[in-house]
Amino acid sequence: MTKKLTSNANATVLIGELPLFLREKMAEFIERNKIISKKTGSHCCTWCLKAHLLEKAREKGMDSWAIELIEQIFPGNAGHNGYYMDSEEVKKIILD
Ligand SMILES: [Zn+2]
Repeated sequence: MTKKLTSNANATVLIGELPLFLREKMAEFIERNKIISKKTGSHCCTWCLKAHLLEKAREKGMDSWAIELIEQIFPGNAGHNGYYMDSEEVKKIILD
C-alpha cells in the first residue's frame, strides 16, 4: 500500500492519515503524559511521543508509509539519546 503525501501538508492533516491504531496510541500517550500550561494549553514532549509511536508501529509490523508519516508529523528527534519517557518511566528505544 502506498500513500502520496504532500510535503507542505500540516501536521493536523497528516495525523488524520495515520492508521486508527496509531491515532489511538497517540491519544493514550498524550493523556498519560500531558503537561498543562497556561500559555500553551495541554501538550506533551513530541520527541517522546514520536519514539513511542515508532515503537508501536514497529511492534505491529506496520507498512513503511506509516513510519514515513510519523517522521513527517514529527520532524524532530525520536526520544532523547536512545530513551524516552512514558508515565515517568524511562524506556529504551529498541531499533530494528
Ligand atoms: Zn521527551
